[in-house]
Amino acid sequence: MSRQRYWGCPIPIIHCPDCGDLPVPEDQLPVLLPEDVELEGVGSPIKKMPAFYETSCPKCGGKAERETDTFDTFFESSWYYARFTGPDNETSMLDQRANYWLPVDQYIGGIEHAVLHLLYARFFHKLMRDAGLLNSDEPFTRLLTQGMVLKDGSKMSKSKGNTVDPQELINRYGADTVRLFTMFAAPPEQSLEWSDSGVEGAYRFLKRLWKAVQEHASKGAAPALDRDQLDAAQRALRRKVHETIQKVSDDVGRRYTFNTAIAANMELLNELARFQDDSDAGRAVLQEALESTVLMLAPIVPHIAHGLWQSLGHGEAVVDCRWPEFDPAALVQENAEIVVQVNGKLRGRVTVPAQADRDAIEAAALADENVQKFLVGGTLRKVIVVPGKLVNLVVQ
Ligand SMILES: [Zn+2]
Repeated sequence: MSRQRYWGCPIPIIHCPDCGDLPVPEDQLPVLLPEDVELEGVGSPIKKMPAFYETSCPKCGGKAERETDTFDTFFESSWYYARFTGPDNETSMLDQRANYWLPVDQYIGGIEHAVLHLLYARFFHKLMRDAGLLNSDEPFTRLLTQGMVLKDGSKMSKSKGNTVDPQELINRYGADTVRLFTMFAAPPEQSLEWSDSGVEGAYRFLKRLWKAVQEHASKGAAPALDRDQLDAAQRALRRKVHETIQKVSDDVGRRYTFNTAIAANMELLNELARFQDDSDAGRAVLQEALESTVLMLAPIVPHIAHGLWQSLGHGEAVVDCRWPEFDPAALVQENAEIVVQVNGKLRGRVTVPAQADRDAIEAAALADENVQKFLVGGTLRKVIVVPGKLVNLVVQ
C-alpha cells in the first residue's frame, strides 16, 4: 500500500538502526507533510528533506529516520464518509455522531469505483467497528452506480477528442436546460448518449413551461380551488395532475428514475395546453396544476422553477417549499370504458360510471347502436360481465 510520492497520508513509522521499525508515539500524531516543498520530476521531495525525515528514536533516543513513503490515496477515500459525521472533531477520528448518521442511506458513485473502492470501504468500516469507533456493520445501505456520458457511442475522453464542454451549453441555454437534458436522457445507472438535439428539446420544453405559466399569471391571481364545484373536464384534469404527483413521487423518491419523472411532467404540460377554461374553477385547477409541475421540477431545474414560483404569486423561494402531496380523492376514476363483445368479437365500447353494477353495464351495452346490429335476428342466450372491463353477449 505504500507509495514513493508526496501526495498521500504519511506512514507514521520511525526506523531506528538499533531498535528497528517503531510507531510514532501517539502524542506526536498526526505526522503532517511539510508544505514548503519544491516539486520537481516524479520523485517525492520529502525524501530529500532532512528537516522532515531526520528524527530521534522514541525508544533509545538515538538518531533515526521517518518513513518517507506515503499510503495510497484509497487509505483516505475508504472512510471519509465516516469522518464527515464529525469533521470538527480535533481529538479523535470519530465520535458518537457516527452512530447517528451511519450507515450512509444512499451512496452514489461511478461504476469504475464499484468494486475496489467498495471493498476497501467495507474493510475500513468493519475495522472501525472492531476498534469500537462505530457500531454499524456496513458503510452503505443503498448503492447507485451511475452510468457514463458517451459521445458517438464511446466514452468521452480528451485523447479521443470527443468531449463536450458543458460550460458552452450553459452559456447558451442556461444550467437548467443542461441539467434537464442530462437527467432526461437516461436513467442514472445507464450510460447517457450526448445529443445536441436532445439539449434543444429540453430547452423547448422549458420555454413552453415558461410561456404556460406567464400566460396563466397574466390573467391575474387565480381564485381559490373549490373541489366540490368542478365540472367533468376540470375533475379530469385534476385527476391527471394528482396521478402525475403520485407517479413522480415514486420515480424520484424510490426508483430514482428522473427521466420518467420528467417525461410525466412533459405529458402533463401537454394536457394543460389542451385545457382551455377561463372560468374561475378552471383557472383554480390550472393554478394548482402549474404549481404542482413547478414543485415537481424544482429539484431538477431550480433556477427557472424559482422564477416561475414567484410568477404564480408566491413570495417564498421554491427551494423552501414542500414536495407536493397527491390528493387520493382526486384519483378516483369516475367513468370506465367497457369493451362490448358479441359472441367473443369486439363490436363496441361504452362509457359507464366506474361504480356501475352488472345490470347497468348490460343495459348500456345493449343500447349501443353498433352492438344492436349484431343482435338482430338472434336470441340473447347469455350475458357475461367483467365489471370495469368487458361485456360479452352470447347470441344464437
Ligand atoms: Zn532506537
